[in-house]
Amino acid sequence: MLAERYARIRDTTRVYERVLFESPRVPSELELQARWFAGDFGKHFVSTTGDKVDIVQFGVWNREAGPDFRDAAVKINDSEAIHGCIEIDVLDRSWESHGHATNPTFESTVLHVFVERSSRAFFTRTPSNRNVPQVCIDPAILPEAFNPNIPLARPGRCQAPLKNLPEEGVRSVLDGAAQFRLRQKANRIRNMIDTHRRDETLFQEIATALGYKENKLPFTLLTQRLSLRMLRQNVENCEALLFGTAGFLETPDIDIYKNSTREYVRQLWDRWWPHRNDLQRLILPAKAWHLSSTRPVNHPQRRLAALAVLVCQWARLQRASGKSSVAAANDFFQSLEHPFWNSHYTLASDAAPKEMALVGKSRVADILANVLFPFWLAYDLESAPSATTRLWTEYANLPAELSNRRLETAATRLFGSDPRRKKFLRSVAHQQGLLQIYEDFCMQDNSDCTACPFPEQVAKWT
Ligand code: SF4
Repeated sequence: MLAERYARIRDTTRVYERVLFESPRVPSELELQARWFAGDFGKHFVSTTGDKVDIVQFGVWNREAGPDFRDAAVKINDSEAIHGCIEIDVLDRSWESHGHATNPTFESTVLHVFVERSSRAFFTRTPSNRNVPQVCIDPAILPEAFNPNIPLARPGRCQAPLKNLPEEGVRSVLDGAAQFRLRQKANRIRNMIDTHRRDETLFQEIATALGYKENKLPFTLLTQRLSLRMLRQNVENCEALLFGTAGFLETPDIDIYKNSTREYVRQLWDRWWPHRNDLQRLILPAKAWHLSSTRPVNHPQRRLAALAVLVCQWARLQRASGKSSVAAANDFFQSLEHPFWNSHYTLASDAAPKEMALVGKSRVADILANVLFPFWLAYDLESAPSATTRLWTEYANLPAELSNRRLETAATRLFGSDPRRKKFLRSVAHQQGLLQIYEDFCMQDNSDCTACPFPEQVAKWT
């Protein structure tokens, strides 16, 4: 089986983005970052305190809040590789003036790189007061001309053997990694079922998927704190209990809501208030939620309403899930409706001009790939091992709805400029396989690909 073959290997040109600047006479911060990442400053440095600093991995560009590069690795005085983020500034004190010293997203910084040193000594400190090694770089050593394209991630050593593999060979490697990943998820779910039973496990896992990606933790916490069983026993109040425990009903003044919302919020409050004292200890703090970086249609309040609808329609979900079929699951999720949330983004927003799906297509695809298929496999492995072949065939045919930054990074590392790259990202299975390889090899590599076993193994795959 391909999954076993992948498990065995597991145990043993840059890509350019759009032009961001044109005449780099005075290097901007962005240019410095780009040139740093391109390796123009080298890989071996001496820190401001005289320590030897070697860059083992330059990491990847961070497209979210936090330092400039994440998943980097450095060695200090030939130590073990230290994994974390790298921040690059023009001035050393920008760390302080930009608020990084108190920003928790900068806690994992392992190296602070800058061009200009202040006249007074400046120490780079994280929010927990950890001292971050500093490296001062000199742009004067750079060649004049600079390629104005910025690399997203560096193609790795495996790019060549993968390019030499026929398309079927690459698909087979990705299939092997995807089957391995699916089986691992199924094993995890089977262990959860042993502890939490079948329905609670399904409920918690769907909630986590609804929290993707910034709010997985609060969704998981909610379903751990309010069990499916308890919510089903209070089914007429379940939406209010979920919203109240989420901390979304803490404002006592109903007048802050728009007219179209007031009646709905009043109903939630009336149902929540009698339970509030009992559940007070379980209410999530506001800081548990990440609201700013989510698209309105994916706002956690909409997703929470969807979870409440699932509780109310649990018997239907059980029947749909029991068929172990993509079509039945799609039909079920597409049929979900809510009189308020079909046309609202948040409790505070105006009504949207047109109705939206309560659970969108890409979310359903994610629930299928990460919850339902592993769940079905966990069950089938126990009850009917022969069904796994049919399940895999259905899984392999799931079309991918979306890509994301992690996938693009993985694709850049493995496929670089291979023109077949897009084709290899069209199915959920191949996306999942790619992520598995990235996590098993790229994320474990401390040698900038030199000691990674994947290229040699993949060359032998056919
Ligand atoms: S670490 Fe290994 S799998 Fe990742 S890009 Fe380098 S050679 Fe390829």
